[in-house]
Amino acid sequence: MAPYTLPDLPYDYSALEPAISGQILELHHGKHHAAYVAGANSTSEQIAQARETGQFGTLVGLEKTLAFNLSGHVLHSIFWNNLSPDGGDLPDGELAAAIDEHFGSFDAFKGQLTAATVSVQGSGWGVLAWEPLAGRLIVEQVYDHHGNVGMGTTPLLVFDAWEHAYYLQYRNVRPDYVTHLWDIVNWADVRQRFATARS
Ligand code: MN
Repeated sequence: MAPYTLPDLPYDYSALEPAISGQILELHHGKHHAAYVAGANSTSEQIAQARETGQFGTLVGLEKTLAFNLSGHVLHSIFWNNLSPDGGDLPDGELAAAIDEHFGSFDAFKGQLTAATVSVQGSGWGVLAWEPLAGRLIVEQVYDHHGNVGMGTTPLLVFDAWEHAYYLQYRNVRPDYVTHLWDIVNWADVRQRFATARS
């Protein structure tokens, strides 16, 4: 029994236009995200076989492959729900207050998350995360799907900076893609993740 399944999108493939084209969304969800789900399942299976046979010679590579695919599945599952055709606006309530407290202002936070996303070298993500040790919001710049992350942080708002997320529409101009992402942020979803992470 496969432990991971591809979730349905909460909207149609064309629903996020013009920010994200339907062609990109269909490929991104139906091919890329699906491949991470398949990879997490097949790698879990291979790890189980290694355990059953006691043949752990390939374990180092399998653990890396699991971390990559599982983290890809987790981040994309959050990403789809972080976006909405009715998104945009600004956060409110306790989330807005926490952003002001931990970043100085919404504009300062927006500048940092934009810069973290735009300046990823190669493939990665810009992430707003809850850091439970200090009890504060931080921005993380994630490499691939699983590198450069403080252990124990909870992603709340994630921006995919992989070329597959924008290249067909924005070509090499990643900053324009990130500018349009802000127009479709589902703050209600981010607010709910924030409340859950803190409790
Ligand atoms: Mn992606």
